[in-house]
Amino acid sequence: MSTRLDELAARVSAARADAAARGETFYPGPSRIHLAAFPPKQRWDDWVELESTDWPRRTERHYMLVPTTCFNCESACGLLAYVDRETWQVRKFEGNPEHPGSRGRNCAKGPATINQVTDPDRILQPLKRAGARGSGRWEPVGWDAALDDIAGRIRAAIVDGRANEVMYHVGRPGEDGFTERVLASWGVDGHNSHTNVCSSGARAGYHFWTGIDRPSPDHAGAEVILLISSHLEAGHYFNPHAQRIMDAKQAGAKLIVMDTRLSNTATHADFWLSPYPGSEPAILLAIAAHLVRTGRYDREFVRRWWNWAEYLAAERPEAPRTFEAFEAAFGELYASYTFAFAAAESGVPERTIAQVAETVAAAGTRLSTHTWRSAAAGNLGGWQVARTLFLLNALLGAVATPGGTYPNAWNKFVPRPIHTPPHPPSWNELTWPLEYPLALNELSFLLPHFLKEGRGTLDVYFTRVYNPVWTNPDGLSWMEVLTDERLVGLHVALTPTWSETAFLADYVLPMGLGPERHDLHSYEQYDGQWVAFRQPVLRAARERAGAQVTDTRQVNPGQVWEENEFWIELSWRIDPDGSLGIRRYHESRAHPGQKLTVDEYYGWIFEHSVPGLPAAAAAQGLTPLAYMRRYGSFEIRAGVGAVHEEPVPESELDDAATDGFGRVYTRAPAPASPNVVPMGTPEPDAAGRRPVGVVVDGVVRRGFPTPSGRLEFYSRTLAAWGWREEAVPGYQRSHVHPTALDADQMVLISTFRLPTQIHTRGGNAKWLDELAHTNPLWLHPTDAARIGVGTGDLVRVETEIGAFVVKAWVTEGIRPGVVACSHHMGRWKLREQGQQGQRQVMATVDLTRRDDQWRMTRLAGVAPYASGDPDTARIWWTDVGVHQNLTFPVHPDPISGQHCWHQAVRVRPAEPGDTYGDIAVDTGKAHAVYRSWLEQTRDAARHSPDGTRRPYWLMRPLKPSRDAYRLAEEPAHDAARP
Ligand code: SF4
Repeated sequence: MSTRLDELAARVSAARADAAARGETFYPGPSRIHLAAFPPKQRWDDWVELESTDWPRRTERHYMLVPTTCFNCESACGLLAYVDRETWQVRKFEGNPEHPGSRGRNCAKGPATINQVTDPDRILQPLKRAGARGSGRWEPVGWDAALDDIAGRIRAAIVDGRANEVMYHVGRPGEDGFTERVLASWGVDGHNSHTNVCSSGARAGYHFWTGIDRPSPDHAGAEVILLISSHLEAGHYFNPHAQRIMDAKQAGAKLIVMDTRLSNTATHADFWLSPYPGSEPAILLAIAAHLVRTGRYDREFVRRWWNWAEYLAAERPEAPRTFEAFEAAFGELYASYTFAFAAAESGVPERTIAQVAETVAAAGTRLSTHTWRSAAAGNLGGWQVARTLFLLNALLGAVATPGGTYPNAWNKFVPRPIHTPPHPPSWNELTWPLEYPLALNELSFLLPHFLKEGRGTLDVYFTRVYNPVWTNPDGLSWMEVLTDERLVGLHVALTPTWSETAFLADYVLPMGLGPERHDLHSYEQYDGQWVAFRQPVLRAARERAGAQVTDTRQVNPGQVWEENEFWIELSWRIDPDGSLGIRRYHESRAHPGQKLTVDEYYGWIFEHSVPGLPAAAAAQGLTPLAYMRRYGSFEIRAGVGAVHEEPVPESELDDAATDGFGRVYTRAPAPASPNVVPMGTPEPDAAGRRPVGVVVDGVVRRGFPTPSGRLEFYSRTLAAWGWREEAVPGYQRSHVHPTALDADQMVLISTFRLPTQIHTRGGNAKWLDELAHTNPLWLHPTDAARIGVGTGDLVRVETEIGAFVVKAWVTEGIRPGVVACSHHMGRWKLREQGQQGQRQVMATVDLTRRDDQWRMTRLAGVAPYASGDPDTARIWWTDVGVHQNLTFPVHPDPISGQHCWHQAVRVRPAEPGDTYGDIAVDTGKAHAVYRSWLEQTRDAARHSPDGTRRPYWLMRPLKPSRDAYRLAEEPAHDAARP
């Protein structure tokens, strides 16, 4: 059978013959063989293409192709940098066909990496504040001076017992564990993340079921795909998932999309459901109840793998401990979740829900489901969206099956690093306050309120690829604390570009973009495990050409550094003589007493922690590090399968004991595993044995990393920590449920992305800015008629704490009564900051404050400007959208800690004097809203069942020592009482 390559070769032969017949010289094409989709890896040292700017002359350019990974979302797709062998500059980025997750494909943001590299407004040298914070006055500073100053303050904080005053706050990590390891080496519980404004709602829903906080759907093998997010354009792992969703659709799979807004994904769906925001669990529970009522579920799977016996013992002690009794109890629990009820809550027609339920039922074990952010990040109780979605998989047995949904830990690989410091000995209540013992991540977005309340202060605060003033809700409260040097002593912004938050720093330190730094990744994008290597491509290119590069600054533009080398250097300066015990975690193993290099750090990992890589490298005569520098990724295994079903070998059952529900504990030491992927760490038994598996029909199997070892339909953790009524998958009416709104209020959805924007980092990616640079308010025609506005008219959107003025976009792509505004746009810089900033996407504003009253007025949009890039003189757009997040108060979910983004708003025509982009905020009201949500919590001091601050088994990005978990005082009352 003829292959595609044969066909292409035949065409080339025919073209050669044609040319010969015309008496012309045949030009075989720059690639010499054919225009293949991807350059074959054997030719990455010298790949030839024609110089496009010389057309019609055929000028051949020779490139070295160097792999790295994209840093423009969390998918970590593979990129190939085309490094010009003459100039040693990167000319473009395209997909890396060797990357198992992205398979050579990218979204628009991958190739736009070149815009970021050549951005004329990027920061190229370290800067130090030269006036008041936020005054816009800066002076250049050397790396050495900045490092010494920062290191001295951190050392003093550690030595003085003020370690909790050191905090590292990260937006997009883009790596697995490097910085957590650095903080652990300092003994500092100082990790803060953005996750509670992002995905912790979904994570909590998954974690309480499986002990793992992410799903890994096998979309490509599915017969039915059920999504609660906009995956094809902007959702989680969206390019790697989108291509697999399309594979499945082409093979005949049905696609169900629940999204109040007609997203690009919804346009591809067989069923688009536009539910009233927050009602998603009601629909999912109605489908679940239908599956059970009609007997269309996998009874054996439920019997074997759910912790139903534990549920009966805790909640139905009078019932016989039989599976039939559980089935009856399940039916009773969800009897009220009829299609009619779901239709009344959601506004989706009953008939449509019934059709969807039948479609789901027909999927059997080939149901792939996914939710991330979206409804789970919008609503009070949103974490139950993920919990009720996974309930469908758990009922159908579509868990770790081909076409089903896997727990992510089985499709992800985090290699063990060269040094592993101990858990920090302290607990930081600025990130993990007692009110939120079950939060999946740091209460990051409450930091300004905690600082204002006097819960602590920060001496050294790093923001890294993080822009809370713009990204978080309530940004002006952030501004208030970041400009107060009594609350934040030193603010160090680690960033490649200017941002609203970097303007408020004391040091702005230029860090490398994706192709200028090292990182390791592995993400769950199909049933397999891979690792990918982000690397500074010019360093790798120079080294491939025989040069020696000892510091990434030698090849990066200006004085741009990479963070890993920065952290190693900083750690050495904190502990120059090693007396604090920090330095040893940043020393070479090969050359004790010398500084660890990134080559040794990654070389050790690839040599010792990635199974199969050393052999694959040796087969090509390469070291493992050289292999990863050349190809950028490695697939460890495909087809991981159902890990929970694996029998536990006898050798791991030393002095084993089993509890009343089949959880098995052992004294055998845990086998050393190179994979340190984060997941739940269930507690040992009373005799100190570690959990090793669970008995299922007489066989000890691996099970899940939950307390019971099973899928936890019933969470004893939730019940024991004061949330008994939430211990099983359920539906809690959202804070924006119709019954919570006034008659003239609507719901604002602000959680959706623009597919070609990247939060803060895409700012000056000129191709992306040209594609998308505004965020009008989606408004249904019936609402537009009622309000009396049309497309392009200015409307005033009033929230609990303020208002913003934006343009209307009238569309039937949103349900009546709901409005939507994308969260990517509305970047700004203060008038005082002049030319500093991302001038392709930032408006210039005037910002005034009188006590708690803030006003922002737009002075100018963007305009053409002269720079080293002639395209900046061709900017044709002025609009950059409106920064709505400033007008949102914080809404922390009392269980998951997730910020509940949806807002109850009033939408009116703009008033006389209102102008586009106007913003008004009352930060006093913002603090009052924070206090009111705080009152909904059930804190550890009153509800801890065991004298700890938080269940030890729950994941934490940087886990302190077990001692740090102990409360200073015993709980105030019986914790089991809700
Ligand atoms: S999906 Fe797009 S932005 Fe995200 S990593 Fe892949 S190419 Fe980059």
